[in-house]
Amino acid sequence: MSAAPPPAGGGAPRRSRQAAASPTRQAAARARAAEIRARLRLPTSAEADIAVIGGSGLYELDGLEDAIEVRPPTPFGPPSDALVVGSIGPTRVAFLARHGRGHVLLPSEVPYQANLWAIRLLGAGRVIAVSACGSLQEAVAPRDVVVPDQLVDRTHGRPATFFGAGIVAHVAFADPFCPELHARLATVAEAVIEREPGGRRDAASPPTDRSGTGPRAVHRAGTYLAMEGPAFSTRAEAALHRSWGMAVVGMTGAPEAKLAREAELCYAMLAFATDDDCWRDPAEAEAVTVGTVLANLAASAATARAVVRDLAAEPLPSARGACACARALEGAVATDPRRIHPARAAELSLLLGDSPGGAS
Ligand SMILES: [Zn+2]
Repeated sequence: MSAAPPPAGGGAPRRSRQAAASPTRQAAARARAAEIRARLRLPTSAEADIAVIGGSGLYELDGLEDAIEVRPPTPFGPPSDALVVGSIGPTRVAFLARHGRGHVLLPSEVPYQANLWAIRLLGAGRVIAVSACGSLQEAVAPRDVVVPDQLVDRTHGRPATFFGAGIVAHVAFADPFCPELHARLATVAEAVIEREPGGRRDAASPPTDRSGTGPRAVHRAGTYLAMEGPAFSTRAEAALHRSWGMAVVGMTGAPEAKLAREAELCYAMLAFATDDDCWRDPAEAEAVTVGTVLANLAASAATARAVVRDLAAEPLPSARGACACARALEGAVATDPRRIHPARAAELSLLLGDSPGGAS
């Protein structure tokens, strides 16, 4: 197999000192992706530093300079749509509409494996996921931003791994979101909302107004519950999810976050509450109209664009050293390398390199 570039100095030992392993490993991963892009004849300008996956209401990103569209093939079929790669300041940003432009894919139909594979192939190390959600807490008002720190997966039947078919891998997923990107996203979101006409509310103070027009809060912690859908929750489900202490409910955070971890990508989410799910007593709840929800979606998309613009305007360190995301596959492959079929190893070489044991 010729997928991996020759290591400096030839056959260097795979397990060198732990402290030095990370940048070397990341550089090798980037070089491997570049080699595969070249083999697929993708243009060099398709290389990205970060990726943005836009959810309901966010189907394009404005302000991308020198933008091109790429449709990279993957072992898991085509991604949801073309990825649009362009520059914001010093950063190459790849944007992907999760449901496709025009919103043509159900949450259950989104090709999550192909999407995360394509992002890894373009070289992006960090992924910002934008999701429209229902609030499950009094403290989270419509149009508030939740940057979740935990996730509960209640989806079923969706492929949630790149592995299988002869290779077994188990990645650590105790902390499903990258702590470094999470902190950066929350800080930038706070600054963006501070500048908006309504201003920012302290996340600890309960909202006095749930119309979506009052001051907005950024919640730095909270659990995102992924439900299968596509129907919204029943009142009993909303009560159950609230009793579990969930902050927001959406339909796409899983398996997206799991696949990002398997692809060794830093992944964090901007979850925008667009409504109160259905947990309020209908007699007390303000009438939620389609118009209100659409207005909240549009406002949330505008905030998401501003957060991406601000975050990308500052150069991001190319090495990701403050978190363990880029080492997620180290020691994760349980299968005896001698039992892995060479064709299957070759298919997953973007992730595993020349060592299906996952240690390269
Ligand atoms: Zn990370």
